[in-house]
Amino acid sequence: MSDLSTSGTTGAIARGLRQLGSPAAVRRLCDDHRGRGQRVGLVPTMGYLHEGHLSLVRHARRLADYVVVSIFVNPTQFGPHEDLDHYPKDLPADLALCQQEGVDLVFTPEPEVMYPKTHPTTVEVEGLSQGLCGARRPGHFRGVCTVVTKLFNIIGPCVAVFGDKDYQQLQVIRRMAVDLDQPVEVVGSPIIREPDGLAMSSRNAYLTHQERRAATCLFRSLEAIQQQTLATGTLSAKQAISLAREIIEAEEGTQIDYIEVRDAEALTLSDTVGQSGAVVALAVRIGRTRLIDNRVI
Ligand code: AMP
Repeated sequence: MSDLSTSGTTGAIARGLRQLGSPAAVRRLCDDHRGRGQRVGLVPTMGYLHEGHLSLVRHARRLADYVVVSIFVNPTQFGPHEDLDHYPKDLPADLALCQQEGVDLVFTPEPEVMYPKTHPTTVEVEGLSQGLCGARRPGHFRGVCTVVTKLFNIIGPCVAVFGDKDYQQLQVIRRMAVDLDQPVEVVGSPIIREPDGLAMSSRNAYLTHQERRAATCLFRSLEAIQQQTLATGTLSAKQAISLAREIIEAEEGTQIDYIEVRDAEALTLSDTVGQSGAVVALAVRIGRTRLIDNRVI
């Protein structure tokens, strides 16, 4: 990684990838680029990068001149019994991938830098944050909105790319940016899947061989709902949910967290699939791993 620079903070713009942990240094560098008339693009991640993340990087590259990837496993979005301590990490591999993709800057703050001692300030988007994952992971979206607001403030005016994979998160962040007049254009990017349909996720690394095979049941459920909707024009939410339930429960070791049909924008409960934009969203535990997936139909 010859051109990977961790030393310079401002001034001459290096051609290769830079990695910085200091918010002030990152802000200066982004200001510098904006000052030259460039548009800054941000891709927030928790690292252990895969093709899903890289597709966001490529999307950001199409929209911006200077692409920043943040890698931060945000402790405040994990519940007390969740996988914060085991979350997969491989910073050298992440940096190599960022370099390959032509990322300009990787922001890797330490937790103490993002959350020094006390941090009583939080950001919460009511309503949108309350169902789906918000209902099963209390405080999760407060943690997400707080850290994303901090990232937006550190990076400054930019276009930020988020995956449709975390569908509720994307809607919550869109709302937050509008409501708080954050100078950020929030853009969604399609779900990237493995050849057998499993949505890529850093958490797929937890799956045993057998669980990995069973994990396609999320994708297969969404496919079945879409096919059935295409065949019949519309499907009641009840029918869609029981179709998915049947497919998921046929796999050993699965436990459904939720299967819901919601309005694709407001995320209010929806009675039908196939008429107005509805999203079918699901969360399933496979062994000890919790996976999510969704499709707008
Ligand atoms: P994470 O590192 O899991 O917090 O994800 C960082 C960003 O990558 C989020 O905006 C996710 O929605 C997005 N992302 C994760 N997996 C995928 C995927 N398979 N396809 C598209 N985007 C994804």
